[in-house]
Amino acid sequence: MLNGKTAIVTGSTSGIGLGIARALGGAGANLMLNGFGDAAQIETLRAGLASEFGVKVAYSGADMSKPDQIRAMVEIAAKELGPVDILVNNAGIQFTAPVDTFPPERWDAVLAINLSSVFHGTQAALPAMRARNWGRIVNVASTHGLVASVEKAAYVAAKHGVLGLTKVVALETATTGVTCNAICPGFVLTPLVQQQIDARAKRDGISVEQAKSDLLSEKQPSGEFATPEQIGAVCVFLCSESAAQIRGIAVPVDGGWLAQ
Ligand code: NAD
Repeated sequence: MLNGKTAIVTGSTSGIGLGIARALGGAGANLMLNGFGDAAQIETLRAGLASEFGVKVAYSGADMSKPDQIRAMVEIAAKELGPVDILVNNAGIQFTAPVDTFPPERWDAVLAINLSSVFHGTQAALPAMRARNWGRIVNVASTHGLVASVEKAAYVAAKHGVLGLTKVVALETATTGVTCNAICPGFVLTPLVQQQIDARAKRDGISVEQAKSDLLSEKQPSGEFATPEQIGAVCVFLCSESAAQIRGIAVPVDGGWLAQ
């Protein structure tokens, strides 16, 4: 379905981004992977995806907190794989603390990686999409783009910002073949959430399994984690022709979190 398209997925060396990259690769898109990690492991991942799906796979170690590196990543993807058709802004970090003591440098880092990178990536990728009158921008926001939780000031502010930016880009491209939408995952068991589970187990003096189940029962009525594969499938749908008139929306994949 996406044969020959070029897709960048930021933060795709792990978790949800990797699930999305696998789904887009499975649909035939050539991939630019991005994210941090051990160089040898990333190369194994890159080569593995290329042979599993028979697509071209490149890697950029661009730091999403650095606008010039984001722009360079988009240019390199175009050179190595062809003009960028699909941009998935997924890279993100979390930091939890009460607002009273939230470290300002952590605020800046969360805002830079979770929100400003979406702006810089979009700005860099949009001209080529407009020129070919086709493009898909998919922003991985969160249920925290629509509702809040305590101790997540920067994350919640950034994700609300991502949904606002998604709507603006959708309106500014509304008469073109470029669409921009967001996905709002609930809890997905990735390293980002595992950190929160481990912190909770330590804080409450309970087992990791108990902390996992407490975390889910607080927010996610299904009592189950959403999976990177499920989110990847939603992303592929948003990139399909069937979704050409879906513009500026936020799709929850959240086990009922937002229904409460
Ligand atoms: P993760 O920690 O498994 O993966 C994060 C990815 O981003 C990794 O590849 C990491 O290397 C990369 N990354 C981090 N900082 C970066 C930087 N400065 N530059 C480039 N890459 C960077 O996390 P995840 O849970 O897969 O999260 C992915 C996205 O999904 C994030 O935007 C997160 O906010 C969002 N999300 C996650 C959940 C969840 O429950 N896991 C829920 C809602 C939304």
